[in-house]
Amino acid sequence: MRKKYAAGNWKMNKTFEEGQILLSEVVNMVNDEMNNPNVHVILGVPFPYLSSFTKLVNSSKVSIAAQNCHPKPSGAYTGEVSVQMLKSVGVKYVIIGHSERREYFGESDAFIAEKVDAILAEGLTPIFCCGETLAQREAGIHFDFVCGQLTNSLFHLSAEALQKVVIAYEPIWAIGTGVTASSAQAQEMHKILRDHLASKYGQTVADEISILYGGSVGAGNAVELFSQPDVDGGLVGGASLKSRDFTDISKSFP
Ligand code: PGA
Repeated sequence: MRKKYAAGNWKMNKTFEEGQILLSEVVNMVNDEMNNPNVHVILGVPFPYLSSFTKLVNSSKVSIAAQNCHPKPSGAYTGEVSVQMLKSVGVKYVIIGHSERREYFGESDAFIAEKVDAILAEGLTPIFCCGETLAQREAGIHFDFVCGQLTNSLFHLSAEALQKVVIAYEPIWAIGTGVTASSAQAQEMHKILRDHLASKYGQTVADEISILYGGSVGAGNAVELFSQPDVDGGLVGGASLKSRDFTDISKSFP
C-alpha cells in the first residue's frame, strides 16, 4: 500500500516561541489521536528551528522537514543551507520546487533536479512540488506543463531512486487563495501524473509513488480530497498553522 502523508508547510511564519507552542500542540494531538501507521505526519518549519524541533519530535509520530536546500554540499554560497547541514541536525524530509521558490527566487527545473539528487544522495526524502498557473489551466496546457516539470526534474533518476521521492501537486491558483481544486480536478491531475510516471518507469513503480495535493487544503475538504484513489495526502500551508485543523487533516484518510 502506498504511504500516506499529511505534510505541513509553515512557510515564513511563527517566531521560535510561537513555533514551539504550535509544534508541541501538534505532537500531543497527533500522538494521542492518530493510530494509522501508514500515515506520516510532517511539519516543514523555518531553518533556524530545525535543530531544536528535530529533538522535540524525537520518539513522537511527527517528523520535521526543511522548506528548501542548496544542492552543493558546502562552499561559498552565502545564506544557503546544504543537505549535509540539514541531515546533521536530524532533518528527514526537504520540500523543494515550491511555486513560491520558483516564482520569487527564479528556481528552474534544472536547479531543482540538482536538489533532488543532493537530497537522495544523503538518504533524505525530497517532497517535490509541481503545479500550473491559472493562465496555463485556462489555456488547456496544464497537463503537459506539470508532466514536463516531472520529466525535467525527476526523469533522470533510476526507478529505485524515483521511488524515494514524494510528489506534491499544487496548482498555483489554489495556493493560499481559499480556492481548492475540486476533488475531481485533483484526482484527474494525479492520475495523469501517475500515468506519466508509468510511461517511463512502468505501472508497478508508478503505483508506489505517493502524490500529495496542495492548495487550500483544510479540515473541511481533506476527507473528500484524500478519498480520491490517486491522492495520497496533502501539503498544507495556512491550515498547518492551526494545531486542531492540521491534526484533523492528518486524521482525514479513509
Ligand atoms: P495553502 O498552501 O494550504 O495555504 O494553500 C499550500 C502550500 O503552498 O504548500
